[in-house]
Amino acid sequence: MRSESVSLSAVSPGSSRTMTCHVWGEREARPKVYLHGGLHADEMPGPLALWHLMDRLDEAERQGRITGQVSVVPLANPIGLMQWVQNKPQGRQDLETMRNFNRGYPDLAALVGDDLDGVLTDDPDHNKAAVRAAFGAALARVAPLTEPDELRLRLMQWSHDADYVLDLHCDHVAILHLYASGLRPADTELLCRSIGAELALVQDVSGGNAFDEAHTAPWRDLAARHAGRHPIPAGCFSSTLEYRGQGDVDDATAARDAENLMVFLGAVGAVSGTAAPAHPLPPLYPLGGAVEAFAPQGGIVTWLHCPGDRVATGDTLAHVSDPTKRQRLPVLSPATGILFRRELWPFVMKGQGMCHVAGETILRQGHLLSD
Ligand SMILES: [Zn+2]
Repeated sequence: MRSESVSLSAVSPGSSRTMTCHVWGEREARPKVYLHGGLHADEMPGPLALWHLMDRLDEAERQGRITGQVSVVPLANPIGLMQWVQNKPQGRQDLETMRNFNRGYPDLAALVGDDLDGVLTDDPDHNKAAVRAAFGAALARVAPLTEPDELRLRLMQWSHDADYVLDLHCDHVAILHLYASGLRPADTELLCRSIGAELALVQDVSGGNAFDEAHTAPWRDLAARHAGRHPIPAGCFSSTLEYRGQGDVDDATAARDAENLMVFLGAVGAVSGTAAPAHPLPPLYPLGGAVEAFAPQGGIVTWLHCPGDRVATGDTLAHVSDPTKRQRLPVLSPATGILFRRELWPFVMKGQGMCHVAGETILRQGHLLSD
């Protein structure tokens, strides 16, 4: 294992933050798998799973079982880690601008521009390597002004040439689920069966250029630009993994999740000697089939269903009770499918989102991710 640390440039005198990436395997070995956790800095199930994964990678290295290259950034967001307000961590948005740390990544296809003209051939493998080199060169030209944009750039400088990119998050209260593009469905299924995901939400473009999309959309865009002349494969599989809820942080669960990530690393050829993926294939639904239920009034929330429950349109999912009016109103399911996530707080204001139900039928288009 080797480690690389980079310091973000100080945004105010006397301050500096450091990001660290640990790498197992030879420098040019393939496949390269990149994993990070804690991009939303108040989500610790992913970093704890990576803690346990790193022990397993050390063991695999001692036994000579690292056949590819595995990069792990266990805490991807040192800016967010320090954002505490009134004794609560605020890790989702940059507090200065309220921009989501998982939106607005550099558009690699746009940055590459015309750089690939005259470089591509009719060999897809050559083109894959050429595209990765162009991504690296384009990122080296970017000069970010703000610290969060510098953080976005540094992460992509570690990840842009990977064959697989896994971004470990969690939700508020949720089942283990993941987001993926439709470009490499066999890998989506492999990941689901490796980690035991209970639901996959699939969409080519979700909007906002989240970290996962920033690694898949450019390959699709460049393939379209050079279609009919030069073949460009979908050179990166990327997924956002939602490791249940914010409170689901314990060593036994994280150790199991790490073991399952090793199964995935084995299945794609980055390590050897792992078990085969053995979990059943979960439902794979379109992201546009995931819809939100909203609070009919402010008040106390009491749930009738848990994440993982199958529900039908119109089912009562929860009640919101206003003790001042002595009025209790139902929260109805907006779709037929799986209640896969709910909000953390047992108190709500009128009109706030409370939970999501995912089904087979597409009910939303356009910008599909929350802010
Ligand atoms: Zn997150």
